[in-house]
Amino acid sequence: MIIAGNWKMNMTRDAARSLVTALSDDRANAAGDSQMVVFPPAVLIDTVCAAASGLAASGLAVGGQDCHAMDSGAHTGDIAAPMLAEAGCQWVLVGHSERRADHGESSAMVADKARAAIRAGLKVMICVGETLDEREAGRANEVVGAQVLDSLPEGLTADQFAIAYEPVWAIGTGKVASPDDVDDMHNHIRAVLTGRDASYDRIDILYGGSVKPDNAEALLGLDNVGGALVGGASLKADDFIAIARAAG
Ligand code: PEP
Repeated sequence: MIIAGNWKMNMTRDAARSLVTALSDDRANAAGDSQMVVFPPAVLIDTVCAAASGLAASGLAVGGQDCHAMDSGAHTGDIAAPMLAEAGCQWVLVGHSERRADHGESSAMVADKARAAIRAGLKVMICVGETLDEREAGRANEVVGAQVLDSLPEGLTADQFAIAYEPVWAIGTGKVASPDDVDDMHNHIRAVLTGRDASYDRIDILYGGSVKPDNAEALLGLDNVGGALVGGASLKADDFIAIARAAG
């Protein structure tokens, strides 16, 4: 299981240090074998890696929230995957719905970013999810299935990526998909993945969208749920640790 925290455009340097210290302490004492990953804003990656250094064995990994499709060049404001790797990241998030919506990122662009991440030796967490209109129109499976296939580069091995299913209408809204809906969608994503490559039966498929300590256990207990991608609740040590504990 992977319990991932997407800090988005939040946190100060001091707050990041104390949150990572609390998470590292928890990982050092945690009984289960779930992996914890945090995705801080790019300017805090150095701070987070320094605070977490020496604690990698306890299961805390660090990732970037996005990367460019090119390895370097004239792309003002962007961050290349090799820069994330050099800063100490093991992961990068690509295709978050806020990137797809705010920056017009298509699944083809997301796949190019994922290729860049793999070239840099990073693991990619590829985000997919339908809007409320798409769900109400009965198109959720079709939309998410296409996002998975089009965002996932051909030829990745099963240890190079994870999928995060995040229904757009559940992100930051307090509305959580029901366990039945999550179960149906994760089963569908599993079928899409194994249709591409049989070895993808062991890919972690994370659920994201208003995951909190009080709903984590029900969601994480579902067969094809391999973890959680957590936004708001990942900013509070107690909440994030409680979610990680629910993962076992
Ligand atoms: C997210 O941003 O990936 C997310 C799931 O946010 P929240 O947990 O706040 O809904």
